Formats: sequence, structure tokens, C-alpha cells
Amino acid sequence: MGYDSNDRDDGTFKPCPFCGSDASLKIYEPPFTGSRYYYVQCDRCDAMTSPVHIESDVGSALRQLQDAIGRWNRRRD
Ligand SMILES: [Zn+2]
Repeated sequence: MGYDSNDRDDGTFKPCPFCGSDASLKIYEPPFTGSRYYYVQCDRCDAMTSPVHIESDVGSALRQLQDAIGRWNRRRD
């Protein structure tokens, strides 16, 4: 809630829990399947979340994007 610059829980990525580097949203698209997946991966150490399947409609895709970000931000180990 709000726009406090210290509030990172607004759809942005927390630093990597392993090395503290920035993370990026990636899209995994296996060839010939027609399926696409979101996942979040550290830019430095290759830590990543499990992939989230992207549904074809826009509303679901946004929710799955938030799910992928949430999986990253909830990492503790
Ligand atoms: Zn890392």
C-alpha cells in the first residue's frame, strides 16, 4: 500500500536471497508446445522460481505474473 520508496511489496522484485543481486522476470517458451511460463531468475547466481504457466487471457496472465513475482519475494532460504 502507498508509494513509500521502502515498500518493495508492490510488484517489484526483492534482492536475491542467496547473493543479494537483482532479479529479472523471464518467459520460458518450450518449442512446439504453444505454452508459455513466467519465472524469476537472479541476474548473477541463477537462482530461480518454479515456472508459472501463462493462461491465454490477459486477466489470468496478469495474476500469473504476480504469482511468479510473489514466489520470488517469498523465498527465505
Ligand atoms: Zn543470486
